[in-house]
Amino acid sequence: MLEDKKQERTSLEQLGEFGLIEHLTQHFTLKQPSTLLGIGDDAAVLNFEGKKTVVTTDLLIEGVHFDLSYMPLKHLGYKAVMVNLSDVYAMNATPSQLTVSIAVSNRFPLEALEELYAGIQLAATSYGVDVIGGDTTSSQTGMLISITALGTVIEEDITYRSGAKPNDLLVVSGDVGGAYMGLQVLEREKEVFKVNPNNQPDLEPYSYIVERQLKPEARKDIIELLKQLKVQPTSMIDISDGLSSEILHLCKHGKTGCNLFEDKIPLDPTVISACEEFKIDSTLVALSGGEDYELLFTISQGDFPKIKGNPHLTVIGHMTEASEGAHLVTRGDSKIPLTAQGWNSFASE
Ligand code: ADP
Ligand code: MG
Repeated sequence: MLEDKKQERTSLEQLGEFGLIEHLTQHFTLKQPSTLLGIGDDAAVLNFEGKKTVVTTDLLIEGVHFDLSYMPLKHLGYKAVMVNLSDVYAMNATPSQLTVSIAVSNRFPLEALEELYAGIQLAATSYGVDVIGGDTTSSQTGMLISITALGTVIEEDITYRSGAKPNDLLVVSGDVGGAYMGLQVLEREKEVFKVNPNNQPDLEPYSYIVERQLKPEARKDIIELLKQLKVQPTSMIDISDGLSSEILHLCKHGKTGCNLFEDKIPLDPTVISACEEFKIDSTLVALSGGEDYELLFTISQGDFPKIKGNPHLTVIGHMTEASEGAHLVTRGDSKIPLTAQGWNSFASE
């Protein structure tokens, strides 16, 4: 749980900025044919040969987006990459390059940044993307990480948030709510640790949800699966903020309404049991939790046979005319308007 268990602490000043960049990036290799030049010059040089390029950036700030008291730096590096790759996949594109920019205070030794970069490198190699540049600077207090991902896609395959039509089916990959419940467990253990630092927490029963929080995977496999099944989603988004907020984005951009069925929402059994333990409604967690990095998309009804019964995909609802609004249809068969926070439990129809 501690930020820096290692004895060794090499101060960043010892290396200097250029020494640091060289040290951190020395093991990066280039695999993508589209990378003509990576790290080392004033800019990287890429050649996408006529394919469309997608670009996405995320900025993560210590204390706002991550807490180093339970987030190991290697996981942080890995997750920072995943967050970006997930956005590329959500365009139905294939990620190819990354830039990594960091700002760190002198509180961090070289060994901490080595850990961070080990996670970044693991993510980059596992997903076949090249790290082609970045920027390194100092900060007054905490750590900041900004990653930009580039990817390519042929024009016909680009999937926007805006393509959903009434009667399209609403589909989600994997299961939702795990990352949020993992965070609840970690927050609780952090409090326990503050009181009794010798108490090693047993996170084993929570390993799935803790992993969902600390080591999410971008759903590369789902993009490949959809290609294999010859399913072209009509709209798509990745779940970073929570199911209901993402559904509302698809509705807004597609100018549709939607019915989401509570009993269809895929929940892992460990999410359900953690919700019971923490006395939180599992539907609320699924709708508002966030950070699951699953893909949420719509397909035309004609494509339903292609995905039917697939264990990685769940139909959770369907799109409607915009005038019908966006609703959660509960297990008790009442219709409640969806809000970005989950649902508005005070309103009913
Ligand atoms: P400049 O002065 O042009 O900004 P830098 O000295 O900051 O150049 O960077 C030198 C090279 O190292 C560039 O190719 C840059 O993209 C790369 N680079 C700098 N910082 C990082 C980093 N944190 N991670 C990966 N590459 C980096
Ligand atoms: Mg620079």
